[in-house]
Amino acid sequence: MSEPKLKAPRGTYDVLGEQALARTALEARARSILEGAGYERIETPTFEATELFQRGVGESTDIVRKEMFTFEDGAGRSLTLRPEGTAPVCRAYVEHGMHKRRQPVKLWYLSSFFRHERAQAGRYRQFWQVGAEALGSEDPALDAESIVLLATLLAEMGVRNARLRLSSLGSAESRSEYRERLKTHLRASEESLSAEVRARIDLNPLRAFDSEHAGTARVMRDAPRLLEHLSAEDAEHFAQVRGLLDAAKVSYEVDSTLVRGIDYYTRTVFEFTSDALGAQSGVGGGGRYDGLVEQFGGPPTPGIGWAAGIERILLAGERSAAGNQPASGPVELFVAIDGSGAELTRLAFGLLGEARSAGLTAQMDLGGRSLKGQLGHANALGAHYVAIVGGEEAVLRDTQRGGQERIATDTVVHAVLRGLHDL
Ligand code: AMP
Repeated sequence: MSEPKLKAPRGTYDVLGEQALARTALEARARSILEGAGYERIETPTFEATELFQRGVGESTDIVRKEMFTFEDGAGRSLTLRPEGTAPVCRAYVEHGMHKRRQPVKLWYLSSFFRHERAQAGRYRQFWQVGAEALGSEDPALDAESIVLLATLLAEMGVRNARLRLSSLGSAESRSEYRERLKTHLRASEESLSAEVRARIDLNPLRAFDSEHAGTARVMRDAPRLLEHLSAEDAEHFAQVRGLLDAAKVSYEVDSTLVRGIDYYTRTVFEFTSDALGAQSGVGGGGRYDGLVEQFGGPPTPGIGWAAGIERILLAGERSAAGNQPASGPVELFVAIDGSGAELTRLAFGLLGEARSAGLTAQMDLGGRSLKGQLGHANALGAHYVAIVGGEEAVLRDTQRGGQERIATDTVVHAVLRGLHDL
């Protein structure tokens, strides 16, 4: 009796074939855009102390309340698979004393994240994000640059109809005054609200803006808007961010209902959505988090960043043919074996290694096929040169210019290099 087949857990998937190529292309784009703008790569651990997210992301958020994969290590310490990247990056900034470097410190990552969500198309339990965080400056130009970089990445990946919504949540002080005003508004129509919003009036009244519940939506239509209660300084900061985006010709809509689901945001918040995605329309988003580093024991440090979902970018993007080319480029030399035996295989294998050391993209059929089968494989790969090794001698075919010659096997690499050079 055969064993039952095992499957990847719910909400997870394997990255294969074209998907893997598309990711490699996306990673290369992200790296060139972000490193070109002075962002350095950072990778933080896959799991962190649970407290990091409780403190950073916030106890009132959906992520901390119900979406974390939390477990104990052997010593009884509570650990959590990272549900997002900003808190770990801020932890690393403090841990490595990065405030002593020239500010702002700009960091980017491309990593997997974990949330216990209802799995569906575009929503997974393990997903990948590319993210960029800039710490140590509250200059509105940093906000604008950060947003422009994400807009550029999405545009270069061919994300169709990306729509940018923008708002400001103000600083912690203006927000806490506003929260009281909003709570009063919610309490006045408590009976029309969804049970979930009602239960969170004190804990997180702003989330009522995200509710899809009809009664709640009605109450929110004439709720006071944070954007109209910003301090003069926060309003000026927001006006400058908008002016810089106008100057960069990035179009956006100011949306005073945009709150985003994480507690650490202050001032600028933004989100890109794409109609190409259906229900899960968020492609990427972020904002300022001026108090977060301090919450992890660091000095007062402003910061701004974003994260965008890799799966969603690829789903929404027009996967250009160029993006799906193998990263290695075309095969320059295919090594085939005419005959059998260990000695012949050893010779061909040696030639393959020699070609690769010389910088050629080279492949060989490792499936034990007949010569005909091997040549079919070379043809499918579009190999430029094919060396058919018969022993100390080989036949070298130029598939592009036509023609072939019989030469010593140990001169094949030289002949290919010369041939490519002459092109
Ligand atoms: P967030 O950290 O919630 O602001 O998410 C930022 C981006 O990550 C979203 O716009 C999505 O593109 C992506 N994302 C968030 N959660 C998931 C998920 N469960 N599955 C796939 N992508 C996700």
